[in-house]
Amino acid sequence: MTKKITLSETGAMLLAAKKIVLVCHVSPDSDTLGSALGLMRKLEQFGKEIVILVDDDIGTEFNFLPGITRCIRPQSNKSIYADILAIIDASTFDRIGLAGEVVKAKITLNIDHHISNAQFVDYRYLDIEAAATGEIMCDLFETMNWKYDLEMATCFYAAISTDCGFFRYSNTTHKTMLRAAELLSAGVRPNEISDIIEMKSRSTIELLAKVLATLSFEYSGRVAYITIANDLYDKNIQTDSFVSYPRYINGVEVAIMFKAVEPEVTRVSLRSSNIDVSKIAIKFGGGGHLRAAGCTINAPVEEAKQQMFTALKEIL
Ligand code: AMP
Ligand code: MN
Ligand code: MN
Repeated sequence: MTKKITLSETGAMLLAAKKIVLVCHVSPDSDTLGSALGLMRKLEQFGKEIVILVDDDIGTEFNFLPGITRCIRPQSNKSIYADILAIIDASTFDRIGLAGEVVKAKITLNIDHHISNAQFVDYRYLDIEAAATGEIMCDLFETMNWKYDLEMATCFYAAISTDCGFFRYSNTTHKTMLRAAELLSAGVRPNEISDIIEMKSRSTIELLAKVLATLSFEYSGRVAYITIANDLYDKNIQTDSFVSYPRYINGVEVAIMFKAVEPEVTRVSLRSSNIDVSKIAIKFGGGGHLRAAGCTINAPVEEAKQQMFTALKEIL
């Protein structure tokens, strides 16, 4: 049974522990990494022993996050004992990969903002109104009267700004903006962070050119999709931004990127202007938010497309 706790209970629980393992989700983004790194820095000021686990490669684009070199990959033969396993920005147990197996903790805690959250821990703080887990971190800091230094503020600003598309998406609220303003007061320069995050490698843009050529439509233009076939897929090339191209086309309600990460495994990113795509992702064992969700379909890319279009038929 998962017990819902308040922010002050969350803070008190962290302060009562000696050793805490913070876990980020696989395919890590600025929100999971920034939230964990900023929290680590504060908890270390209180003398806590902190380990951060990420069961995935971490792209070089995250090198600007203070403390990023502290992220380590769990190893199957190496158990880690801790007072608390705190899962940051992940809504299901399988989103943390091997970390879920190797950490032997007295308490499991989940801090998250996904509507698809599956209540898989002992204690949970979930706020689906928060634009990012980084925004929840700011709430936690305020509740606990913890102050940010520039490094913490940088981590949380990166977390918040990326998850709300630099304050453009529908999850951006009055409070999101206020939290961002507080982080600026701590010295964050938004242009510096957005310049780093928006920067793309040449190979990303070269791949984008090929992927845009696959742009196609279904359901009279209400669905637009792009495809990264397996022979084009390269795990070292960043493609997160690609799905925004089909997303911002007149008349498109659902944008999809199909990525053949293996010949028989297709990773799907869903974006929408008005439809709850988290429901579709959940059908395929994934999850996410109302307007941004994802899942993995264990099928070749063309078969995955047909499965997805069939599922969409019921909703459109
Ligand atoms: P992406 O398309 O990978 O950028 O993911 C969009 C949103 O859906 C993010 O908030 C992810 O955390 C969430 N998401 C993506 N894939 C999954 C999954 N397999 N399970 C749960 N949530 C997911
Ligand atoms: Mn995330
Ligand atoms: Mn997030």
